[in-house]
Amino acid sequence: PALLELTAVCKRYNVGQPNEAEVLHGVSFNIAPGELVALIGPSGSGKSTLLNILGLLERMTSGSYRIEGQEMVDIDDEALTLQRRTKLGFVFQFHHLLPAFTALENVTLPALMREGRVTSRQLERARAMLDAVGLGHAMDKRPGELSGGMQQRVAIARAMVLEPPMVLADEPTGNLDTASSDEVFALMRRMHAERNTSFLVVTHDPRLAARCDRVLELVDGRLVRDQVSGAAGGSS
Ligand code: ADP
Ligand code: ADP
Repeated sequence: PALLELTAVCKRYNVGQPNEAEVLHGVSFNIAPGELVALIGPSGSGKSTLLNILGLLERMTSGSYRIEGQEMVDIDDEALTLQRRTKLGFVFQFHHLLPAFTALENVTLPALMREGRVTSRQLERARAMLDAVGLGHAMDKRPGELSGGMQQRVAIARAMVLEPPMVLADEPTGNLDTASSDEVFALMRRMHAERNTSFLVVTHDPRLAARCDRVLELVDGRLVRDQVSGAAGGSS
């Protein structure tokens, strides 16, 4: 069974106005549990719009989006927020860590947001996640005291601490040098494999896309490629 099922998704901005524009034209694909998928495409092709729809931050104009079989289109904003906090983790190009808080405090934020408090069990989980991303020694550091690559590792720990089935990553290595990019990408691969978490990674880096299980390519709001990669054990 699919984890995410996107069917015939259309998105129009400025509906009813002279500048109305359709930027996604009937996009369909499924993502299975545990898949590591790259989303590529030129600037303006609709990647951010698609990611915002997948992330339940923006609604589509028409089409269907199911997570674990449940339709997202017809539920209200409050239910969407709950789905977002339960089913999805987010990693951004700029880490979006809170600068005044330590790495550990940053990783406890999703629990605070979802449950309104941080239990000792959640604190333990946050510590374990930071250990898992190799930052057990840096839990009490603030983001400003960490390198760019380490900041993204904290962001990955934060995205995964509540064990969502799916993590959406928007150019997670876009702001890093090659060595740090490789390291952060390797970490995502390892975390995805160990925990069977699905990842959708928007990237401009063809090297990183080639190391995913599957590549989706958007051009002018249409899916022009959906290719399973040989390196991941596919048949081609
Ligand atoms: P990408 O992330 O691939 O660069 P975007 O999803 O940001 O693409 O943009 C796709 C198209 O939608 C572009 O033509 C962009 O100008 C347009 N667009 C994006 N957001 C809006 C918006 N809020 N209002 C109107 N047009 C938008
Ligand atoms: P990125 O491609 O790095 O994700 P953005 O999502 O900020 O960058 O913007 C992508 C494109 O969408 C840009 O061309 C931008 O001008 C356009 N865009 C973003 N928001 C709007 C908007 N509200 N109205 C029109 N165009 C927009």
